[in-house]
Amino acid sequence: MPEKIIIFDTTLRDGEQSPGASLNIAEKVEIARQLERLKVDVIEAGFPVSSPAQFEAVKRIAGEINAIIAGLARAKEVDIKAAADALKEAPRKRIHTFSSTSDFHILGKFGSSRYGQTLAEKRKTVIQMSIDAVQYARTFCDDVEFSAEDAGRTDIGYLAEVIEAAIEAGATTVNIPDTTGYTLPDEFSEKIRQLKKRVKNIDQAIISVHCHNDLGLAVANSLAAVQAGARQVECTINGIGERAGNASLEEFVMVLNVRKDLLPFYTDIQTREIYNASRMVSTFTGFVVQPNKAIVGKNAFAHESGIHQDGVLKDRNTYEIMRPEDVGVPSSKIVLGRHSGRHGLKARLQQLGFHLAEQKMDRVYERFLKLADKKKEVYDEDLRSLMGEEVFAEKPTYSLDYLHVFLGTNAIPTATVRLSKEGEVVEESAIGDGPVDAVFNAIDRALKTQFEVTDYQVRSVTSGRDAMGEVFVRIQNGLGEAHGRGHSTDIIEASGKAYLQAINEIMKQREKSETEVASSA
Ligand SMILES: [Zn+2]
Repeated sequence: MPEKIIIFDTTLRDGEQSPGASLNIAEKVEIARQLERLKVDVIEAGFPVSSPAQFEAVKRIAGEINAIIAGLARAKEVDIKAAADALKEAPRKRIHTFSSTSDFHILGKFGSSRYGQTLAEKRKTVIQMSIDAVQYARTFCDDVEFSAEDAGRTDIGYLAEVIEAAIEAGATTVNIPDTTGYTLPDEFSEKIRQLKKRVKNIDQAIISVHCHNDLGLAVANSLAAVQAGARQVECTINGIGERAGNASLEEFVMVLNVRKDLLPFYTDIQTREIYNASRMVSTFTGFVVQPNKAIVGKNAFAHESGIHQDGVLKDRNTYEIMRPEDVGVPSSKIVLGRHSGRHGLKARLQQLGFHLAEQKMDRVYERFLKLADKKKEVYDEDLRSLMGEEVFAEKPTYSLDYLHVFLGTNAIPTATVRLSKEGEVVEESAIGDGPVDAVFNAIDRALKTQFEVTDYQVRSVTSGRDAMGEVFVRIQNGLGEAHGRGHSTDIIEASGKAYLQAINEIMKQREKSETEVASSA
């Protein structure tokens, strides 16, 4: 009988910790809904104590989603209390607490003498902190996960001691992370085997693994651990996460799926929802999936060479070990146009994983019509791009109502913009080094702001002369840092929209911190 592997998705926690991946709350909720359709068992929704926005996101997801919702907490009372508060409404909840166990981490994080003088004393302190944390977490819920951070580089004898103490204290899942992505598959599976041998109460908890991809081995290590007895795998969509990322959910799941002849394991994942999940996460984070990425890359099912194409046409098994439709890659291109109507648009968006409330649908339909005017054929990728633009903004924001740019050889690029927000209209002009710079300057003058642009990327979403361009921009100043995305068949306009979206985001962050100060006063 094949055994079930629990899929613990941490896209919204570890994934969101990727440098530059910040997601707003509404985007996180939308991703959580897609993870639920994908049927992941556990969704780690965030690290509640780390910021009010993280707390709010976990709370919103806990109130809406039926999968087990996990909140991360260091082995500290304030963290655990914050996680418990954020998870209050979840029908099924898990507090995930952790301590550092490798000597590197212990000496680095607990250097101060109040944790003990010698390494042996400090190690003792860490065990006690872990026990206290798990026991405290258990006062809020029965489902508690304990992680031994940097277990990959932790001495096995000590690791076994910590894990045994955590289970004894009430941990129901014990997680063995390869935090630095350092171990090799054989080495890692041996670690799991050793724990099974040395920890006398190990059968009272599920063994979990959390592998990082610094050497490209995250999925291989996760698989090796499962073969040695782990029954939960922590992973993310598209493998996003700290540094080189985490084990990729889609790769791990499809390994079990395609090689069930050799691997007696299964997951509950609805593999046909994989592609939508991948595209949604890419759209909202702004992280483009590399074309040759296994399972979800643009080329994952493309057969370029003549010999391969010929082979696949005769019999797909010649070069295909899985079918694109198994992971939800659409087999034919669906094209919408002006005449598709609101109903057609809504139905297609739902098939792509976006379930919008009527009021949001109005906003999207309006944008869709504008796009369909410029572009006769609107593809799925165009629709996904539209979703990336503040469709999920919760408050009114500035919109770019009018844009005029003057440029030419030997002319000074000049831009005029008209922005509006709830009836308030501002208009300004400015010059710049180029048309994009002129647009940014005009927006700055209109809003009396100034930002440094720290990242700017342009790419085309679809192909052809009328392809939609997508611009990603990241800005910062003393007030904060944010990114924005803009889409248009005109990349100058897309740049203006992206810049404005980033400014809207910073204004929102500022309003939020002002109200926090007010309410705590
Ligand atoms: Zn991690």
